[in-house]
Amino acid sequence: MSRPMETLFEASRAGRVGYALPPLDVPGVDCGEALQGACRENAPRLPEMAEVDVIRHFTGLSRMNYSVDEGFYPLGSCTMKYNPKINEAAARMPGFSRIHPLQPEETVQGALELMYILSDMLAEITGMDAVTLQPAAGAHGEQTGLMMIKAWHESRGDTKRTKIIVPDSAHGTNPASASVTGFDAVEVASDEEGMVDLEALRALMDDTVAGLMLTNPNTLGIFEKHILELTETVHRGGGLVYYDGANANAIMGKARPGDMGFDVLHLNLHKTFSTPHGGGGPGSGAVGVKAELEPFLPAPVIVKKGYRFGLERLKDRPRSIGRVRSFFGNFGVLVRAYTYIRTLGAAGIVEASEMAVLNANYLAKKLSSLYPLAHKGWCMHEFVLNGGPLKHETGVSSLDVAKALIDAGYHPPTVYFPLIVPEALMVEPTETESRETLDRFAEAMEAIAAKARKEGPEAFHDLPVTTPVSRPDETTAARNPILRWQFDENS
Ligand SMILES: *Cc1c(COP(=O)(O)O)cnc(C)c1O
Repeated sequence: MSRPMETLFEASRAGRVGYALPPLDVPGVDCGEALQGACRENAPRLPEMAEVDVIRHFTGLSRMNYSVDEGFYPLGSCTMKYNPKINEAAARMPGFSRIHPLQPEETVQGALELMYILSDMLAEITGMDAVTLQPAAGAHGEQTGLMMIKAWHESRGDTKRTKIIVPDSAHGTNPASASVTGFDAVEVASDEEGMVDLEALRALMDDTVAGLMLTNPNTLGIFEKHILELTETVHRGGGLVYYDGANANAIMGKARPGDMGFDVLHLNLHKTFSTPHGGGGPGSGAVGVKAELEPFLPAPVIVKKGYRFGLERLKDRPRSIGRVRSFFGNFGVLVRAYTYIRTLGAAGIVEASEMAVLNANYLAKKLSSLYPLAHKGWCMHEFVLNGGPLKHETGVSSLDVAKALIDAGYHPPTVYFPLIVPEALMVEPTETESRETLDRFAEAMEAIAAKARKEGPEAFHDLPVTTPVSRPDETTAARNPILRWQFDENS
């Protein structure tokens, strides 16, 4: 791009419109009178543009982006699988897209039925007894689950449990969710195999611990082989166990968190169940619970009464933690996830897991001669490479490798996470990629390693060169982002 794109506010010209409305054929209303003085004094300062300029603006923005529809997107922990277009077709059906959440129940029976059946299918896949679809993202699901854990302890008069144990390999949302729910997050170490240290957990467990949050397979892509001992240890100490099921891509149809001893979990429908994500939304962090926690679910709860579907509201659910989101969650995402599960069927769900694990192990094997695996052995749906030796040998860091991959036409893997692996490159190919795609990606990674050895770090400092912005100051971008247009108050 030769010059930076104008924002909509800069491109705005007073009086320009992108719509044509028919003449008013009902009596006009004075806003101030109708809203009894609650009417705004000044018109909103919305950009004024012609349709063609709006379309060019957003099309231009979309071309500066990168998506899974364009190419391989092995962003570890994010499960960027291809999202089948049939999901979109279903979500756009007028019966789903043109309804309003305040419509009378009897006019939206299909939508309620879809949510009821989806909850049921998710309960079956995870081995839980009940599911809420309200939370709008994984982190939101974590908060919802932890609120239920808190309510459960309090309902038993057990008020001294103030701690949530979180492994040092955990996703950053886990300690953050514990903290926003009013718990203290306590870290438990991983052992040299990358699994939770059982002895360390036993030592931490006492009557001040409300529960443990765990991802399995964990963020290193490793299945916790002591899972039954881990959950039993927490239960014996009077705590509950929370399953971070954001990435259930390796286990769906294969193993169920409910059978491993977990009491509460969330699933990221926007990861495992194939709805588009990235850029912050919309998502769905469905939360499942065992029967003991069912009374605490957010209200309203969708129920089946004979052949009809209806809502059980807060007034009928006295122990509910309350509502965690407006209406029913991100309904469009729920339609996509439902369509995905129905398209695959039980056998397809199992096959998707198997292919996800096969693809990850195939790629791990191909790449591990260049970039050693952070932990030995088989991985599940993802794996973590250690970019440390390459950096030591050539001065080229994992960040440089990621930037070079952008120029090679790929979305880079997750870098510098999990935190326990310095120079981490976390790769999650997902099941939707062909062997040819994986081979080509491995070739690109080989070419980058070869370039590092031949040309050294200087050859990487200005990469990427193919993007509108190359290397922003990441600290300023994260800490001091300018997210809204600043109006010139004199104009
Ligand atoms: C993505 C992810 C989350 C958070 O999910 P959001 O929808 O981004 O809030 C939590 N835990 C793990 C392991 C994840 O991969």
